[in-house]
Amino acid sequence: AAVLAPRAIAKLPEAVVNRIAAGEIIQRPSNALKELIENSLDAGATSIRITVKEGGLKLLQIQDNGSGIRKDDLPILCERFTTSKIRAFEDLSSIGTYGFRGEALASISHVAHLSVTTKTRAESCAWKAAYADGAMVPVKADSSDSSAIPCAGNDGTVLVVEDLFYNTPQRLRSLRSATDEYARIVSVVMAYSIHNAGIAMSCRKTAGGSSNSTADINTSVGASVLDNIGLHYGDTVKRELVHVEAASSELDVEVNAWCSGANFQAKKSTFLFFINHRYVDCSSLKRALEAFYGTLLAKGTHPFVYLSLEIDPTKVDVNVHPTKKEVAFADEDDVVELVCEELAKVLEKQGESRNYKVQT
Ligand code: ADP
Ligand code: MG
Repeated sequence: AAVLAPRAIAKLPEAVVNRIAAGEIIQRPSNALKELIENSLDAGATSIRITVKEGGLKLLQIQDNGSGIRKDDLPILCERFTTSKIRAFEDLSSIGTYGFRGEALASISHVAHLSVTTKTRAESCAWKAAYADGAMVPVKADSSDSSAIPCAGNDGTVLVVEDLFYNTPQRLRSLRSATDEYARIVSVVMAYSIHNAGIAMSCRKTAGGSSNSTADINTSVGASVLDNIGLHYGDTVKRELVHVEAASSELDVEVNAWCSGANFQAKKSTFLFFINHRYVDCSSLKRALEAFYGTLLAKGTHPFVYLSLEIDPTKVDVNVHPTKKEVAFADEDDVVELVCEELAKVLEKQGESRNYKVQT
C-alpha cells in the first residue's frame, strides 16, 4: 500500500475550538436547559419558570428568583472557565453545587444567541447583557456599545437562549423533531422538579408571541417528592410506591427512594437516579434494579424507581463526562447491593402487612 505522506499539524482557530467543545457539552436543547436549571438551583432559586419554542431550538427561556448576577461579573459571565463556584481543584472534593467548570454559559454562547437580564437584591435596577462566542455584544442591534444596559426587572435572573445551533447546521439537521426535543425537555424538568420538590417549577411551550398557553408542568411551593411524582406520572403510579430509606456509615451513603411494588404494571421502566443531587445515568444501578424486579414483576411489566443517593463527596467523581450525565463513585457494587437489599426488605414488609390485612 502507498505510504501516506504526513500532513502538517496546525493549531485550530480559537472560534473553531470553542464551537467543537461547546458541541460536546450542549448536545441538544435539553442539555442546555439542564445546565440552566442547575444554575438557577445553584443560585438558590425557589421559583423557576421555563418557556420553550420549537422544542427549544427557537427559544429556551428560564426565569428564576435566585441570587442574581453581580453587574461587574457580566463581562466575563460567558467566558470559558469562569465560575463563582470553585476556586481550586481541591474544591471539587467537597463540591456542593451543580456547576464548577464555568463552561455551560460559554458553550451556549458559542452555539446560540444568549442574553441575560439579572438583578441582585443590592441593585436598584436590573441589567441586561447579550453574548456571542463568549463575549458581550451590544444588546441593541443598532448600537455598537456592548456594555450592559439598565432596565426594569425582578430580583433574580432571566436567561434567553435563541436559535440554538444556528451556526452548526449538521447538529441542527440531526435534531429533526421539535416534538421529540420538547419531550426531552419535559423529562428533565419533571426529574428536577421531583428531586427539588418544594421549589415551584413550571414549563410551557409557546408558539407565537402570546404565552397564554397553559403550563405542561407546574409544581407548587412546599410540595413533596411524592406529590410531584403523582403530578407527573399519575395517581396510579403514586399509589403503588413504597418509600425506601437507609443509611450505611460503613459505605458513607444515604438512600432515599420511592419504588414501585410487586403489583405495579408499566410497559416500560422509569428510572430517576440522583447521586449527590445530580440527575445521572447509572448503568450498574439500572442493571441491578432491572434484575431485581425481573424476578418480582409479571413478564413484560417494568418498575418505577426514583432513587436519591447521598455519598461522601470525596468518593464521587463528577468530572467524568462532558455533560456530567455520568458520575463515578467508590464502592459502587456495595452501594448497589445495599439499595436492592433495602428495597427487598421494604417490599417484604409490605407483602406481610397486605397478607395481614386480608386475614383480619
Ligand atoms: P458554572 O455553573 O460551572 O459556574 P456556568 O457557565 O453555568 O458555570 O455559569 C457561570 C457563572 O454564572 C456561575 O458560576 C454563576 O456565578 C453565574 N450564573 C449563571 N446562571 C446564574 C443564575 N441563574 N443565577 C445566578 N448566577 C448565575
Ligand atoms: Mg452551571
